[in-house]
Amino acid sequence: MRVLIVEDERRLARSLAQGLTAEGFAVDVVHNGTDGLHRATETSYDLVILDIMLPGMNGYRVCAALRAAGDETPILMLTAKDGEYDEAEGLDTGADDYLTKPFSYVVLVARVRALLRRRGRGSTASPELRVGDLVIDRGARRVTRAGAETSLTAKEFAVLEHLASRAGEVVSKAEILEHGWDFAYDGDPNIVEVYVSALRRKLGPDLIVTVRGAGYRLVASRA
Ligand code: CA
Repeated sequence: MRVLIVEDERRLARSLAQGLTAEGFAVDVVHNGTDGLHRATETSYDLVILDIMLPGMNGYRVCAALRAAGDETPILMLTAKDGEYDEAEGLDTGADDYLTKPFSYVVLVARVRALLRRRGRGSTASPELRVGDLVIDRGARRVTRAGAETSLTAKEFAVLEHLASRAGEVVSKAEILEHGWDFAYDGDPNIVEVYVSALRRKLGPDLIVTVRGAGYRLVASRA
């Protein structure tokens, strides 16, 4: 899951990014509205966290521009204090939810997860992803195969979730990188192999098939 944070308060942006990264999200951060709109247009995000009072272009305008362009990425709006933000106006421009600062981190994460579930990749509101005998519980971040629970790191979970959401299809390394890593990573795409190897070791060698020159395909036998 890949998240864009558009927030000009750098300390807040940094702490949100660190927190969400620890939760297993790939996080990009920009500090003004113009960059925010550009990034959100160029890259496919699962969620955008958008401050309202921003230099360059305010959050309302960024949100309205994305919606006008047909971009349906869930948007969580942030505002500095009561009064600055007009809830009706925010929702009118197409935001999905809003949070008034200061907010607790726990509340933010809960809202983020709720929005992702609501707009969840086609699988309507279900936090659970099932492929054969593989079950991924996105809410509890638990993975079981044939009933046996396996403990995964945040990155392993992200790679598995992306492959499972496209089960049966070939997914390229570049695509996995785009969803599991942020712009700060500009290293070798072969890093993906490391995580796929770990997943095979933990969940069984037959789960993820290498498609030579193309990528990987997740296949799970029936339970
Ligand atoms: Ca601001």
